[in-house]
Amino acid sequence: MPTAPAAVLYESAQPMVIEEVEVLPPQAGEVMVRMKAAGVCHSDLHVMKGDLPMPVPIILGHEGAGVVEEVGPGVTSVAPGDHVVPIWRASCGRCDFCLKGRPALCDMGTAMRFTGLMPDGNTRFRSAGGRSIRHYAGVSTFSSLSTMPEAAVVRIDPAFPLWKAALISCGVITGVGAVTHAAKVPPGSSVAVFGCGGIGLNIIQGARMVSAGPVIAVDAHPGKEAHARRMGAAHFINAAECDAVQAVKDLTGGRGVDYAFEAIGQPRAIEQAYDSLKKGGTCVVSGICRADARAAINVNQLVYAEKTLRGTLYGSTRPRIDVVNLMRLHESGALQLDELLTRTWRLEQINEAYEALERGEVARSLIVWE
Ligand SMILES: [Zn+2]
Ligand SMILES: [Zn+2]
Repeated sequence: MPTAPAAVLYESAQPMVIEEVEVLPPQAGEVMVRMKAAGVCHSDLHVMKGDLPMPVPIILGHEGAGVVEEVGPGVTSVAPGDHVVPIWRASCGRCDFCLKGRPALCDMGTAMRFTGLMPDGNTRFRSAGGRSIRHYAGVSTFSSLSTMPEAAVVRIDPAFPLWKAALISCGVITGVGAVTHAAKVPPGSSVAVFGCGGIGLNIIQGARMVSAGPVIAVDAHPGKEAHARRMGAAHFINAAECDAVQAVKDLTGGRGVDYAFEAIGQPRAIEQAYDSLKKGGTCVVSGICRADARAAINVNQLVYAEKTLRGTLYGSTRPRIDVVNLMRLHESGALQLDELLTRTWRLEQINEAYEALERGEVARSLIVWE
C-alpha cells in the first residue's frame, strides 16, 4: 500500500497533523496524483476553524497541480506521467447543469464536497492506525499523494510550470471568472472589489483584463494596497479607516459603481458592496461566509434602483475549458501569475502558512514539493 506525508485535520480549531497516511490505489475511473504544488486558500481555513462543518479526520486542500502516478481501470483521459490540475468541483458531464455549461453546480461535486467521500461512498485515505480519513472537495491536495476521480483532473501542457497551474486552479479561475463569466463586465465599467486576498486580487486582474475602469480595491489591511495596484486597481480604500461605501461613491462622482464584488466572505462586506452600487448595478458575491451567515440588504433597491445581487462558484466557469484558456492568456502576457505568489512553504509548515494568511501577510502562497 503506498504511503505519503499528508496534513490531517483531526479536529477543528486544532493544528493539522503532518503524518504518513496510506493512500489506496485508484479504483475504476480514478487516478492517483503526486502533488507538486498546493494552494494555501482561505476556503480551507473555514473548515479548519469550524465555520464550515465537515466530517473529520479529513485531508484539506483544494487547489494544486501534480503528476499522474497511477490510473485505475477504464481511465482514458490521462496516463501516468501526465501533468494535471485537480478540479475541486468534479462534474458528471451528463446532468442538466453540466449540459448548460454550469459544471460547478453538478450534484457529483456537491456530494463529494459535503460527504468528504469518493462517489462510491468510500475514502481512499487511512491513518497508520487504520482510521478512515475523509477527502476534501474530492481532491485533498494537502496529501503528497492523492487518489481522486478521473472527472476531477484536467490534463495540461507539461511545459507549463506546475506552480503556475496551481495558482490558476482556484484563486485565478475563481476571481477572473467572476468578472468574465459571472458578471460579464463590459469594457469601461466601474468596478469595486471588497477584499484583496487570493480571489479579490484576481477579480481586480479580471477587471483589468476586460478594460474596466476605474477599478477600486477595498481592504482593511493597508499591506494589500501594493498587491491591488499591481493587479490593476487605480484606487485603494482602507476600510478600517473610513466609510468604504462613501469612499467608493466619492470616487465615482457620487453615483456608485456598475459592478461590486465581494471576495472576503463577510456579511458586512456583502452589504457594503451592495450599497456601493450605482442604479442598475450588479453585486457579485464570491466569498465563502460561515454556514449560518445572513446579510441585511435594502430590498427596495432591487426594484427602485434595479440592483442585481448574485453569487458565483468557481467563477461560474467551465474548469476543463477555462483552466487551459487561462494558461494561454498567461503565455500571451494578458494574465499575471508571477506577481501573485508571495511565498512558498513546505508541507511541514502548513499551519504556519495559514497563520500568515490569517494575518493578511501574503497575497497568495503555495505549498511546494521538490
Ligand atoms: Zn453533472
Ligand atoms: Zn481556493
